[in-house]
Amino acid sequence: MNSDLNRRHFVKLGTLAVAAAAIAPARAASAASPAELPKLPYGFDALEPHIDKMTMEIHHGKHHAAYIAKLNEALAKAPELAAKPLDEVLGNLPAVSDEALRTALRNQGGGHWNHSMFWESLAPADKSGKPSDKLSAAISSAFGGMDEFKKAFGEAATKRFGSGWAWLIVKDGKLKITSTANQDHPAMKGIVPDSDFGTPILGLDVWEHAYYLHYQNRRPDYIGAFWKVVNWDKVSERFAKVS
Ligand code: MN
Repeated sequence: MNSDLNRRHFVKLGTLAVAAAAIAPARAASAASPAELPKLPYGFDALEPHIDKMTMEIHHGKHHAAYIAKLNEALAKAPELAAKPLDEVLGNLPAVSDEALRTALRNQGGGHWNHSMFWESLAPADKSGKPSDKLSAAISSAFGGMDEFKKAFGEAATKRFGSGWAWLIVKDGKLKITSTANQDHPAMKGIVPDSDFGTPILGLDVWEHAYYLHYQNRRPDYIGAFWKVVNWDKVSERFAKVS
């Protein structure tokens, strides 16, 4: 009986652990430091002609890598934060009293988090797929349809002055389009306005480094190309976990 109880207890805990792991992004499961550059889930040239190979190589190998190096430098001075998952640190930045450290975490930690999510949000055009029925219905209900959603998201991405991101978030069970400056992201509580605080399920990097080599000043063309390489299976999966 004892072993039976133990077994049941174990099965229950095991199920909970599996459920928790399914909800949290993989990177949240481990400590923030040392952060490591994730491998791209496809080749550098896999998004051609929509996003070119050299942009991907520099964006991933230089820009993302630089965020990680500087994040690790900052966390080396804050072992108590380094031991926490990055999601937790970025979700409670106002608690970091040292301003220089808080800024480093916001910019470099945000940069690492956002890019890790971004790579997974993309897929070669022939593997782009389409939104799940559930996500499709939610998009229709929130925006009137897919075309209307793309238009509104594109406007948010176009209007973001300077460097930043456009986002599709889930807030209180509903979809919403937001944008952030620099490397902020929608789950940074106390950093983004409360009205824009939520769980991001899709993000578009509109920093010039994300498109300038190929598109120069034509950000709207880059935004149009982005839709060809969205990984809708991944976005649908994220939506399913938070709705
Ligand atoms: Mn970027």
